Amino acid sequence: MIRKVAPMVLAVLLLPALFSPGTVRAGDGLRVLDNSVQAEFPYRISFSLSADSDADITDIRLCYRVDRTNFARVSSEAYIDFVPATSVSIDWALEMIKIGGLPPGSNLEYWWTIEDADGDRITTAPAGIVFDDNRYPWQSLTQGQVTLYWYQGDKAFAQDLMLAAQQALVHLNEYTATELERPVKLYVYADARDLQGSMIHSQEWTGGVAFTRYGIMAIGIAPEKLDWGRKAIAHELTHLVIHQATLNPYNTIPTWLDEGLAMSSEGPLSAPFNSYLDRAISENSLISVQSLASPFSAYTDAASLSYAQSYRLVEFLIDSYGQDKMFDLLKTFQAGSTYDGALLKVYGFDMDGLDYLWQDWVTQSEQPIAENGLNLELESVVD
Ligand SMILES: [Zn+2]
Repeated sequence: MIRKVAPMVLAVLLLPALFSPGTVRAGDGLRVLDNSVQAEFPYRISFSLSADSDADITDIRLCYRVDRTNFARVSSEAYIDFVPATSVSIDWALEMIKIGGLPPGSNLEYWWTIEDADGDRITTAPAGIVFDDNRYPWQSLTQGQVTLYWYQGDKAFAQDLMLAAQQALVHLNEYTATELERPVKLYVYADARDLQGSMIHSQEWTGGVAFTRYGIMAIGIAPEKLDWGRKAIAHELTHLVIHQATLNPYNTIPTWLDEGLAMSSEGPLSAPFNSYLDRAISENSLISVQSLASPFSAYTDAASLSYAQSYRLVEFLIDSYGQDKMFDLLKTFQAGSTYDGALLKVYGFDMDGLDYLWQDWVTQSEQPIAENGLNLELESVVD
């Protein structure tokens, strides 16, 4: 799986403003006649407003806030261009192409502020809209904190994937003592093509996306590719759990840790990944832990080796030092620690030290090759 980071830039063309619903100072004549919203997934959300007053309406702004984890309650404000008049009707669309898109099932809250030439001002009550992908007849299944949405395949198909999700959570809890703190939504598209059609900027390699800050993931899984689907669900769900467990305003976790945990949720490392690792060991061309802390290469060979090494790095840390230390490591990252600082605090060595110890361990502990096939469906992680 190739990890590509495609950061979503929200409100590039709009002025971000700290959330403040403002005071409602309704003038004698200023009033809202109509206020509506319509979603057209994945392209836009269209807002309409009609208002009138005794004096010319001179200023209209739409404020909105997307429900994603943030460290401040940040909203965006769009200034609406219109001709001042005593009666106005305006339409304004939040074009997803300008903000990089929103995942299916994301929530958006919005409100208007309207001002007239007399200085009277109205702020409407915040209203919400769910940006659902209503092009498909979704069915849903909920267990614990996980809700799975699907539209192709029978209920047994969905139950099978739900079981994979729950087993991944159990495994991850045993491995790291983490658990889902907030609900997550898993959207299962019928195939990669449908999935790509749900995204504004998709790549033809995209097979799954974890929208970590939204607690949402989307994957294309054809019913006949169930085995791949189970692994993909376990992998992407792990990204969501680990993101919840380590989120902080200062630092992210190293890519090898994020991907190593996600890979270990999939089950034993498959033969092709092991082959990449064996070749790198015999050619003395392992990638350094320092390099694996950054996003992985987009090239298949280097990426496959990066995933394989990450799997073995996490395995080394847990086998050698135990689950408690891994939990401590994640908690230390959550406190905003640097990579070297967290490793030193928990294990007593930094990334160079880990590199040395791990290379020694992996060189001496080559694994029997597992029978599973390599799956080169690719993923992206959107923060
Ligand atoms: Zn991943």
